[in-house]
Amino acid sequence: MSTNQILTPHFTLQEMTESLTAKKHGFANVPPPEAVENLQRLCTHTLEPLREKLGLPIIITSGYRTKELNDIIVHASRRSQHMAGQAADFHVVQGSKFKVQGDEGSKLNVQGSRELLIRAFRLIITEPEIDFDQLIIYPTFIHVSYVSRERNRHQITKANGNGTYCALSRAQALALV
Ligand SMILES: [Zn+2]
Repeated sequence: MSTNQILTPHFTLQEMTESLTAKKHGFANVPPPEAVENLQRLCTHTLEPLREKLGLPIIITSGYRTKELNDIIVHASRRSQHMAGQAADFHVVQGSKFKVQGDEGSKLNVQGSRELLIRAFRLIITEPEIDFDQLIIYPTFIHVSYVSRERNRHQITKANGNGTYCALSRAQALALV
């Protein structure tokens, strides 16, 4: 497996798997073949069509996580879809010059505006070509997952940033600013 494997035109396996936290703790964050297939599905049905509609770079801050990595990430769900390669966290920036290769730490210092995040959030909900399982909007990033056309739940949630969450209807989600 090559880490610079292209999953879809705008997404590589490397950006879906690299993790400073894993590096810092001295373990590899290497996905098994099933997880790579899931990452490819997530990119194909969710992230790539979003990238095309948005016309702006999507910065992945966390994609695949081994159980070992997920366990040490504070606030990560114990049943996180990141562990199956079915979920990614991202934010959006204006202009490709902000694209930072490296780790979660440096990526998180790159501030995309809330307005761009909201634009991406709405596109995921409204664009028929973009499918998803669970969509969570956090104050500074979006978590999105994809399972399969048949099994996607189309759940929309708002994370308040203090560990609390609330489910949103489609109408509530589209009214969010
Ligand atoms: Zn996430």
